[in-house]
Amino acid sequence: MALAITDRFGHGGVDLTVFDPSLHRPDDVARGFPYRADPMEPLLNAPAHMMSIRTGDPDDFLRWYRRASPYSSDGDVYVTRPTFGQYLSDSFHDLRQRWGSRDGVLHCVPEEVVDLVRADDGSCTLSTPHGSHYGFDYVALCIGWSSSADTPAGVSPAYPLRPTIREALQQPTVAVVGTGLAAIDVVRALLISGYRGRITLGSRFGLLPAIRSTSPSPSLKVLTPRFIEETEGLDLQRLLDLIEAEADANGIDVSVPRRVLNQRRPRIDVADYLRRSRDERWAALFVAICDECGPALWNKLDKSSRRAFRSILHRFFQAWCNPMPPQTGDLVLEALDSGSLVVRNGLAGFDARTLDFVDGAEERFGMVIDATRNASEPLASQDSKLVRSLLARREAVADAFGGLTVRFGSWSLVNPKESTIENVYAIGSLTQGTRYYVNALDSILRTVDEAVEHILAARRATPVLSG
Ligand SMILES: Cc1cc2nc3c(=O)[nH]c(=O)nc-3n(C[C@H](O)[C@H](O)[C@H](O)COP(=O)(O)OP(=O)(O)OC[C@H]3O[C@@H](n4cnc5c(N)ncnc54)[C@H](O)[C@@H]3O)c2cc1C
Repeated sequence: MALAITDRFGHGGVDLTVFDPSLHRPDDVARGFPYRADPMEPLLNAPAHMMSIRTGDPDDFLRWYRRASPYSSDGDVYVTRPTFGQYLSDSFHDLRQRWGSRDGVLHCVPEEVVDLVRADDGSCTLSTPHGSHYGFDYVALCIGWSSSADTPAGVSPAYPLRPTIREALQQPTVAVVGTGLAAIDVVRALLISGYRGRITLGSRFGLLPAIRSTSPSPSLKVLTPRFIEETEGLDLQRLLDLIEAEADANGIDVSVPRRVLNQRRPRIDVADYLRRSRDERWAALFVAICDECGPALWNKLDKSSRRAFRSILHRFFQAWCNPMPPQTGDLVLEALDSGSLVVRNGLAGFDARTLDFVDGAEERFGMVIDATRNASEPLASQDSKLVRSLLARREAVADAFGGLTVRFGSWSLVNPKESTIENVYAIGSLTQGTRYYVNALDSILRTVDEAVEHILAARRATPVLSG
């Protein structure tokens, strides 16, 4: 289920049914994979004031957090992911109670949806693996990321963190495959657990996420909503020029990201790159651009530029627009400075004990941890039973950039005849081919609002389809 709540159905008598196999497990209800209980307490990558799930109420999470932890510090605090999971769980519980006082019913079905059939009148029937069928007027698909390929035999997965870290603490050397936020979760967990050996992070590009700047976010002067609306025929070069112009207008030096982009495999001093990402504000500029106008710019970008962006630039934008918390950055910098953490690029392959590099080097370790799964998947999956059924029934089209093709702005599915399926919506990662995003929560909140607006408008315009 997507993690956003909107109150705008009012008392119009809406019956809502939520399907999710995780509803079977009381401890996991409404949390989703990243926010489950975890004794290693990984941190959210955004400060508490950015983590409200209530559209139109940005302080909701901060208020909850102050009630739940009255003695904690405030402001730019980075809360643990399990704590955020508790907030999601409490918010869902609250929603269930409040829904009961309306003229509508909230049903929870603890099962996966494996099939969606649309009748001629547009009404939808959802099926679960045990052969139960349920009829609806509107459907929102909020199925998140799929898990990617299995971890190779003998290699430890990054998650759940505790058993992996417990084993790693016995080893003199540990290699982590991946240099994204999951790898940073592993490094942080090892360091705060007192690991004294050497940690090597290896990936193809060796590009770490930036460190989130503590200074205020730059306000966009060039890439204003009006400018983007009036822009026609945007290609990749013009996009990069506009980003440079925005940096100039804000007095921000972008020589580091320019250098990183211009090298096939960044040969940069990792610690210097990280410090400069935090202090020079270029990473903060990328965050502001992605959050404020990433989707609108993507919508204007021509097809071949989108293809080039996805294959070349996306990984860099992901690293810069999803920065790690400053306190994690400090830990990582300390470990890099002391030599207890090393970052290697040019990774060609790995197994349970070895990393192989494109220059022919082979390094052996006490343990190899796979931090690529569930974290740095560049494209949303098209491989779940439900998505496969939609494609087979020609109710949806697989998007070249991941997920399903949806109509920009309403987020309803588009079928192979390019007709909009007006009552089936996609939220979150399934929309990523149409709505470029790197900040999942922000994107979910915005698409939920627009999809709900679309449903409300449709309900006002047409009588309800079925009972
Ligand atoms: C390790 C990790 C750390 C992250 N950290 C952050 C962070 O700090 N900040 C941040 O903003 N984002 C973070 N993210 C991104 C995160 O994925 C999103 O914030 C958020 O969880 C996405 O929510 P969602 O509801 O779209 O998907 P999910 O949370 O993945 O939820 C999807 C749900 O749909 C259910 N489901 C799937 N298929 C079906 C089906 N066919 N029928 C019924 N139910 C189905 C699943 O059981 C699941 O409960 C992180 C992601 C990962 C993997």
